[in-house]
Amino acid sequence: MAKRWQKANFAAMNTTRTKVGILGGGQLGKMFALAAHNWDVETWALDTSRSFPAGPVCSHFVEGNFNDYDDVYAFGKQVDVLTIEIEHVNTEALLRLEAEGVKVHPAPAALQLIKDKGLQKQFYQKHQLPTSDFQLFDSGDAIRAALQAGQLSYPFVQKSRTAGYDGKGVAVLKSKADLPLLLPDASVVEDLVDIKKEIAVVVARNENGDVKAFPAVEMEFNPVANLVEFLVCPADLDPAIEQFAEQLALDTISAFGVCGLLAVELFLTKDNRLLINEVAPRPHNSGHHTIDSCYTSQFEQHLRGILNLPLGSTKMKTASVMVNLLGEPGHSGPVQYAGFEEAVAMEGVKIHLYGKAATKPYRKMGHVTILAKDVEEAKQKARTVQKTLKVISN
Ligand code: ADP
Repeated sequence: MAKRWQKANFAAMNTTRTKVGILGGGQLGKMFALAAHNWDVETWALDTSRSFPAGPVCSHFVEGNFNDYDDVYAFGKQVDVLTIEIEHVNTEALLRLEAEGVKVHPAPAALQLIKDKGLQKQFYQKHQLPTSDFQLFDSGDAIRAALQAGQLSYPFVQKSRTAGYDGKGVAVLKSKADLPLLLPDASVVEDLVDIKKEIAVVVARNENGDVKAFPAVEMEFNPVANLVEFLVCPADLDPAIEQFAEQLALDTISAFGVCGLLAVELFLTKDNRLLINEVAPRPHNSGHHTIDSCYTSQFEQHLRGILNLPLGSTKMKTASVMVNLLGEPGHSGPVQYAGFEEAVAMEGVKIHLYGKAATKPYRKMGHVTILAKDVEEAKQKARTVQKTLKVISN
């Protein structure tokens, strides 16, 4: 049976081996290529340097810029299915490739919406998907003018429409004293949400329209770096809220109609409402634990989605906490992992190093998933891992 399926699918793509291209050669590309390798799927990665994490593990690394029209077009012509590990890629080239018959997942039109936080918010509004109230502004000056004219009041959150990642294009303005934080960019200005918890639900969809959700995870942030520090699965949620969160994420991927993964970041408000913060149509930091703790990893699920295969079981094998391994403050240069031996000796501690040659403060250098019988035990162990394993420079 399995053989027949393989023949049918691969023959339809007119090749004995399916060539999957990925725009971006970072850690997400690396972990995706490793998953694809399990099925002998040929992976091609495009990024500026083969010294990046995906370099040593993908089948073919092409040096080029995923923001450049010609580079993306030429790269895409060589593969059967094209996907991404980052949203900020040249979508014009993807539209042309799609028109010329290359399978592109996520669909370039959806990607264009998602990579602009303003269009993303409008999409939720149009599809009656819950999100915080917002207004769009062309510049920081336009926001100042609206404040002066009394059309906007504190507190609010300003997000650059296109320049943000890992909290960098986000400014929280609670009062006039915060005005210097205002970003100059075209932005979304949204209500400051009274957040009880931040959670994420990673969902997947294939071309048949089948959808599946991984269990919701809870994010705990490092207040200084504003990066996720602990990612806890299962999330500590009322079962009805958890179910609603998963359904909301499934409705969201169906509304976008994208294939592969969609990571849906949600706020649970203090009055127990769920609001969509943002989405990412690709493997995501909040799904890394699935490699070790679920029946199917997010990377395998992404592959299933983009190749139109049956989606894998998202069942959890065990409770887990995921810790991002960030470069220690004060350390820049060639990397060393202090305490590696002690950490790797601990039961249930699964270390993933991305293979970046140089560290710098708060740079994501790897992650560790800690498996345990329950979340409390996993959290305790995670704290020990954090004290033990440090990313430093020589
Ligand atoms: P990025 O894409 O850079 O990760 P996010 O939109 O996720 O940016 O925002 C980063 C963080 O800022 C969120 O995880 C959350 O803690 C906080 N935040 C974002 N939007 C709001 C909001 N409307 N109200 C309150 N806090 C917010």
